[in-house]
Order: sequence, then structure tokens, then C-alpha cells
Amino acid sequence: MDLNGKVAIVTGGNNGIGLAIASKLLNYGASVAVVDLNDDAFDKGIKNCKFYKADVSDFNKANEIVENIINDFSAVDILVNNAGINRDGVIWKMSEEQWDSVLDVNLKGCFNYSRMVSPLLKAQAGGKIVNISSINGMRGKFGQANYSASKAGIIALTKTMAKELGRYGVNVNAVAPGLIESEMTKKLPKDALSLALAETALNKFGNAEDVANLVAFLCSDLSAHITGEVIKIDGGQYI
Ligand code: NAD
Repeated sequence: MDLNGKVAIVTGGNNGIGLAIASKLLNYGASVAVVDLNDDAFDKGIKNCKFYKADVSDFNKANEIVENIINDFSAVDILVNNAGINRDGVIWKMSEEQWDSVLDVNLKGCFNYSRMVSPLLKAQAGGKIVNISSINGMRGKFGQANYSASKAGIIALTKTMAKELGRYGVNVNAVAPGLIESEMTKKLPKDALSLALAETALNKFGNAEDVANLVAFLCSDLSAHITGEVIKIDGGQYI
């Protein structure tokens, strides 16, 4: 895979899956702008990689950050909407704050950065957007009404953007991971982890690198005729 000369934005790239995606895109030759709330795990010494501090749910900040990235890198070719959170609870106990925060970061964040980047991709007649959804956005999940709804929203947003931007040579796809070992899943209760493992045909959890490999493929010309797709990467957890 060759991403030489491409400029990629990866949201939530300080940690976990986003960090693996940013590293993978760098390895394939892209320059990478990481947008995250935190920079504690970000290695400031990496060439062709720059950190931008922002909350992805902030619409005006997204505009400012994308402008800064264009000033610094002169272009944007790839957007990976990866930043995400979970605030789990059953529906009868879920607070307004739990609902709003998850929808704001996961779904509005994906809208914000797609909204700011799409005029550029459209004008240059080419580009890639990859959105990180979840298998729980396809099947629902006990205790995750907010999270599952946000990830289902990302799927509808992906398909709509694929239709709107396809004629301008822009591919828009979603990736739907099953359980992947990360900071997010470290916080899950033991019985939730055992259940997820029991569901998974390959009888093991995926890792961030597995997801990064798929995302890199979707960011490359090898996936030139794929758009509007939701590709599960879950070791058979969904089937
Ligand atoms: P993680 O918690 O390890 O990393 C998430 C990153 O997003 C962190 O660097 C965090 O600082 C950043 N972030 C959080 N809120 C932000 C905000 N408001 N603005 C900017 N950055 C913010 O999580 P992860 O497991 O690597 O998950 C990455 C993505 O993959 C998420 O969208 C998640 O929903 C999705 N996903 C994860 C799994 C899994 O099992 N880990 C499964 C399916 C989907």
C-alpha cells in the first residue's frame, strides 16, 4: 500500500485504535494530523505527524482545526473519524448527560469533521473518509442504547455521504469492529468480556492493529471501487 504524498486526519489518534491507525498511515507514507482531547501518549518526535488539541464535538473548533491543518500540510486527502466514548447504562437509568455526551462525541464529532473536510475533497475530486462504527451499531447492545444509537447513526451518515460525494471521486466507508482490546474495553466488567469472547467465532479478541490494517486498505487506492460499505472486523462476533 502506498500513501506517499497523502495527508490524513485521524481523530482520537492519541490512543488505542486511533493511535494504531495513525501509525499505520504514517508507515505507508502519509502525513498525519492527530486530533484528540489528550496528548499524553502522543510522540511529538515523529516526522510528518502533528497533534491538534480539540474536542471533536465542538463544531466551530472543527472548522478552526481543519483550517490549521490545511495551513500546516497544504492539503487533506483522508479523514478517519475514530474518536469515540462510551457511557454505559440501561435505558431506564440512563441520564441525559450520558446520552448527550456519547451522541455528541461519536456522531456529531463524525459529522463535524466530515462537514469541514468534504468541501476540500469535493473540490479536489478525490479523497477518502473512513468512519469507525461498531457491530453494536448494527445489532444493538444491552446497556449501550446511547453508544449503539451513535454507531448506527454513523452508518447512515456514511451511506448518505457516499451517495453525496461519490460523483466527486470521494469514497466513504465505515468499519464496524467487534471487541478490540483497548483502554475503552479495559473498563468493561469481566462478565461482559466473557460474553463477548463466547460470541466470537475466532475465540479471541482483535487488537488495534487488526482494525488499522483494514482502515489503511480503505484509505488506499486498493479500495478504489468500494464506497458506502460497512465492513465488520470482529473475528465473527456478529454472526
Ligand atoms: P480509546 O478510549 O482507547 O481511545 C479513544 C480516543 O479518542 C482517545 O485518545 C481519547 O482521548 C479520544 N477522544 C475521546 N473523546 C474525544 C473527544 N471528545 N474529542 C477528541 N478526542 C476524543 O478507544 P478505542 O477502543 O481505541 O476506540 C476507538 C474507536 O473505535 C471509538 O470510536 C470506539 O467507539 C470504536 N470501537 C471500539 C471498539 C473496542 O472494542 N475497543 C469496538 C468497536 C468500536
